[in-house]
Amino acid sequence: MRLDGIPLWDGTEYRGPVDLAWEPDRITDLNPAAQRHGDLCVLPGLVDTHVHLVGYAGAGEPPDFATWPLTTTRDEQVLHGAAHAQRAMRHGVTTLRDLAGDEAQIALRRAFDAGILAGPRIQVHGVVGMTAGHNDLFVPPAVPLPLRKPTADGPDECRKLVRTWARAGMDGIKLTTSGGVLSIGDRNVWRNYTRDEIRAVVDEAHALGMRVASHAHSEDGIRVAAEEGVDSIEHGTLMSRDLAETLAARRTPVAPTLLINEAIAEGRVPVTREAMDKAAELVATRDVLLAQAAALGVRFVLGTDANGHHVRFGDQLAEVVHMTRVLGLDAESALRAATSDAADAIGMPVGRLAPGLGADLIVLRGRPWERIEDLATENIVAVVSRGRLVAGRLP
Ligand SMILES: [Zn+2]
Repeated sequence: MRLDGIPLWDGTEYRGPVDLAWEPDRITDLNPAAQRHGDLCVLPGLVDTHVHLVGYAGAGEPPDFATWPLTTTRDEQVLHGAAHAQRAMRHGVTTLRDLAGDEAQIALRRAFDAGILAGPRIQVHGVVGMTAGHNDLFVPPAVPLPLRKPTADGPDECRKLVRTWARAGMDGIKLTTSGGVLSIGDRNVWRNYTRDEIRAVVDEAHALGMRVASHAHSEDGIRVAAEEGVDSIEHGTLMSRDLAETLAARRTPVAPTLLINEAIAEGRVPVTREAMDKAAELVATRDVLLAQAAALGVRFVLGTDANGHHVRFGDQLAEVVHMTRVLGLDAESALRAATSDAADAIGMPVGRLAPGLGADLIVLRGRPWERIEDLATENIVAVVSRGRLVAGRLP
């Protein structure tokens, strides 16, 4: 397949019109050309570094977020996850990292990689969290095992859970170093794990070749995670000036998950009063702190927390636009944060268009590197994932 004379934004910069050719799943040729498609452009598929594929994907108002996973069989949940992944892909989000996975997300990754179903590239991280930690409290306290998620307490149990996830085929580990918004009876600033436990998780994961992404809203949670060498901070909402300087110096990627916290704080999505209050508490200071952090050079990357209930798959484009407003990024920096830099942050060889790389691309009407609002679903002309057309029509 090929596109001739189309303006290219290659994942880092504008390169002018090119002739682009690919096969499944590799870009074969890319050469400067005379322009034929003046109002169109091509750019790499987006990379969302923080999603949760398994949530309700059906039509209409989503059912209760807390009880849906407890009242729906795992087999049925996997189908919802597949629908979410395909929806994201058709919106041009061709790589997704699931940050609370188990065998369901592993199954989706394997099915997409094997070509059983058309789907985006997927990475899966297994959660290591403590009893009464953020991940544990998604399940109400009266619910017994095996419906509860696994927990680990003490450095030895933490190492064992990391090893269990490695055996299951996880790409990485999700660690929680503070409480969170949607967990029941939790507080944003509750400590999650001692330094010794965090050190054990990071050491064990790195020894087994896995990156560690740490959920952290609180100052203490961000600080200890950064000091112990995690590979990304998820949320980072209460990031003080000195923490921003530390993270900027370390080049640690931060996924700011902007839209979800606002949607919950404002009650625009079905949530409990508890979750609304906790999100509002975070959003009250967030815009000032995160804009300051961006100005200090913190490396923000696209990460939405999309789960189908509070942020939909496909809302990633709106999140990128919102990153320019809240963080003060220019259009091109926001696009890099959603393509090449997000890909680098999770170690995937995507997010750029160049010969030899995978063929994930969006054909779009507009010039989003100059005018970020052009990055919108209604401007998508075609999406190619793994070299195959999955939405729209090639010009
Ligand atoms: Zn999340």
